[in-house]
Amino acid sequence: MIEEKDGLSQPPLATAMWRGLRGLCPSCGAANLFASYLKQVESCPACREELGHIRSDDAAPWLTILVVGHIVVPVMFTVERYTAWPDWVAMTVWPLAALALVLAVLPRAKGLLLSIIWATRAPGSERD
Ligand SMILES: [Zn+2]
Repeated sequence: MIEEKDGLSQPPLATAMWRGLRGLCPSCGAANLFASYLKQVESCPACREELGHIRSDDAAPWLTILVVGHIVVPVMFTVERYTAWPDWVAMTVWPLAALALVLAVLPRAKGLLLSIIWATRAPGSERD
């Protein structure tokens, strides 16, 4: 799926998604997509693609919960089955593990979703 936009070729969807997953501009992949932890840049400093108007809303937290839940819960059940941790250890380790994973996955999920919205020109912009 390569479309012409302003005379420039758009990367394939998979390329844009891979760039977004790594927190890079989905258009060129040469600059960061985010200005801070979750705030995307208004426009790419490398290719000038406007990205600040795209909104992923609740999709990124939803995807993060889906991914983190499918990692933490099976690991927690498996470990708890074969170990006899005191309750206070389990009540400390699992929430901290879940929190660490959420902090790691959330910006990647948002980058992935922003790149999909950008590449497909889906509604999700404040301009429309
Ligand atoms: Zn760019």
